[in-house]
Amino acid sequence: MSLSENLAQFGIQHITRGAVRSTDLVICRGSGIYVWTVDGKKYLDLSTGYGVTNTGHCHPTVVKAVQEQAANIPHAQMNMFFHKPMLDLIENLKPKLPSPKFNSFSFWNSGSEAVEASIKLARHATKKYNIVVFQGAYHGSTYGAASLNSSNSQFSAGYGPLMAGVHVAPYPYYQKTPGYISDPTTFTPERCGEDALCQLETLFKQRVAPTDTAAILIEPIQGEGGYVVPPKGYMEGVRAICDKYDILMICDEVQSGFGRTGKMFAIEHTSVLPDIMILAKGIASGYPLSCIVSDKSLMDCQPVATMVGTYGGNAISCAAANATLRVFDEENLLENCNERSKQFFSGFLTNLPAALPEGATVDVRGRGLMIGIEFLGVPAGFAESVRMEALRLDTIVLRASIYETLRIVPPLNITKEEADLAIQRVTEAVAAATK
Ligand code: PMP
Repeated sequence: MSLSENLAQFGIQHITRGAVRSTDLVICRGSGIYVWTVDGKKYLDLSTGYGVTNTGHCHPTVVKAVQEQAANIPHAQMNMFFHKPMLDLIENLKPKLPSPKFNSFSFWNSGSEAVEASIKLARHATKKYNIVVFQGAYHGSTYGAASLNSSNSQFSAGYGPLMAGVHVAPYPYYQKTPGYISDPTTFTPERCGEDALCQLETLFKQRVAPTDTAAILIEPIQGEGGYVVPPKGYMEGVRAICDKYDILMICDEVQSGFGRTGKMFAIEHTSVLPDIMILAKGIASGYPLSCIVSDKSLMDCQPVATMVGTYGGNAISCAAANATLRVFDEENLLENCNERSKQFFSGFLTNLPAALPEGATVDVRGRGLMIGIEFLGVPAGFAESVRMEALRLDTIVLRASIYETLRIVPPLNITKEEADLAIQRVTEAVAAATK
């Protein structure tokens, strides 16, 4: 048994089964797009640890900032002091946000916490309690956040009653809507968006009064739900419904933010400005940090001392975030993301069809380097087989959704050669799963 396998056994024995794990690799080092196991084996990491290390593993600018902050003061946070890295971060983040109206911040550690913070704020601000979320959405794992999920019932199985006041509307998932299923030849993405908006209105008429609804919480591109991109005009339609009924629009950019889609935030692909944005994952290149942002008059609806935590806005994480934003500018990450995106889409669309089982098709979708690959007309378990074959080819890819979908989430500074290798390995893995 290798050292890695041996240590994995120890991990399996001692770490909760509840923590689903994508691999049993025991890693000890990462650099850029690669991670190494304790046995010295090198893996191409197309996961960025669930869309987090957008600057690659151990970017030197981030490492340096973290080392310096660790030597100054690591544990300074939002509820104890102001501290320089947090104030600098606000200064650095503001010009990157979609509007100057986002001028008030609340810092946390994880996406789940920030999601919950946004719900608390919306309920305080509106004095209403209902929250509308979407089929296929994932917003986190703590009780409040888990109550907002509907990407996979496994995530709340056995946890008893969840938070009340949550209502689910359909998301415009093209291949999964009745119109497409009954007639794929005449159904269009626009129709799909219109149908979903119509059903959102129906929800307000039949089930949940808009006068009792605090917020609509939405991912501008669904993450765990399968990298589903809503059709043109859909987000604008949701915004119009929010305006009509005086409901807050909360945009969960935890997975889609920080350059992942080729713009700093996915909502910038639309003309919509939400009322609250939730940011996490890519913000700090792997250090735990999240925040919500809104207009100050909205954020200040939160009464004093209703939002507290021991670590929110940790100084090391804020220093890592400042360094991350510097890397975006110094290395033109958005530009590279868009270039490599074209390369991935064209590579997958050219190569994958020939590698598929007979009669199967593939939907390559997403934006930037948030790329979903859904296999259609394949046997159940096909995407998992591809993922395992990829691992045998020393390549880490993630699955998404309850359907046969993979997600490709490389760092935004991936090189042309690395992208070529990634396309080749994924294609080989599909061909191997087909055999
Ligand atoms: N929102 C979205 C859109 C996410 O993708 C995730 C994590 N996958 C979360 C919230 C929860 O974030 P965390 O795991 O950091 O709590």
